[in-house]
Amino acid sequence: MAKDDSYHVLDPAHTDPARIKKERDQARKLKKTQWWLDLLNRGICHHCQNKFKASELTMDHLIPLARGGKSNRGNIVPSCRPCNQAKHLESPVDAAFRQLEAEKSGSQNED
Ligand SMILES: [Zn+2]
Repeated sequence: MAKDDSYHVLDPAHTDPARIKKERDQARKLKKTQWWLDLLNRGICHHCQNKFKASELTMDHLIPLARGGKSNRGNIVPSCRPCNQAKHLESPVDAAFRQLEAEKSGSQNED
């Protein structure tokens, strides 16, 4: 159990391999939950809001694990592959902006 509450800043502790591994394990567990299966069955990409087959969606962390993001329902969203890949090519500012736009235009993914 991490007691560090400064997850919003880039900190060497965030890239601690043990922490990343723990969060990856947690993500793997979440993939088996009904919550995640429901999201996949709904098939809506969080970023472009288009509909996909469950097999075409990937699990995406809004805040990357290496930046202190956690594997929990608030930080994990379904993403189509093009969006997931495009995300890595744009600046964090662009990504954050698009994320805000996506949140404004659709709140149907809120649990
Ligand atoms: Zn998409």
